[in-house]
Amino acid sequence: MKRAPGHPTYPSDMSLMVVSVGDLIGSPGKDRPFAAVVPVELTFEDVHVEGPMEVTGRAIGLIDAVEADFTVSAGAHLTCTRCLTAWDSRVEVATKQFFRRVPDEGGYPVTGDEIDLYEAARDELALALPSTPVCREDCRGLCPTCGTDLNSDPCGGHGDESDSPFASLRDLFDS
Ligand SMILES: [Zn+2]
Ligand SMILES: [Zn+2]
Repeated sequence: MKRAPGHPTYPSDMSLMVVSVGDLIGSPGKDRPFAAVVPVELTFEDVHVEGPMEVTGRAIGLIDAVEADFTVSAGAHLTCTRCLTAWDSRVEVATKQFFRRVPDEGGYPVTGDEIDLYEAARDELALALPSTPVCREDCRGLCPTCGTDLNSDPCGGHGDESDSPFASLRDLFDS
């Protein structure tokens, strides 16, 4: 497969996300470490994740379930919802999820004697992404009238509405 220069390369062996847990269920405290790097793609309005997702952790046996303690991380491309500046950031989250042979509302399934961590890891990563990214807390955003970036260039204000390039449009709609 051909890749654009600079595009990250990573092993895409999804089987690395599958962990055998048959011997853990019913053996409280017994655990098995896991680590995988797999491709992920998540697209929301102002957040885009595409590339390797790193998952490391361990599966721990419980009486009738498996607890997976893991950290998931990935690079995210964010766009400021106020000024539209774009930047790259790393999102990382530590979580604890439960897998059961008969999954309840809150858990994931044990299939055969295996758990597949992919869905759980992707879900947790998606939840950790900022829903309305801002480049900085006090970002002043763009002037809604002229589009000037108010962080770098305080526009003079628009006391006289007829100065606005949209004023003639507005007249059009008003008539
Ligand atoms: Zn901003
Ligand atoms: Zn302005």
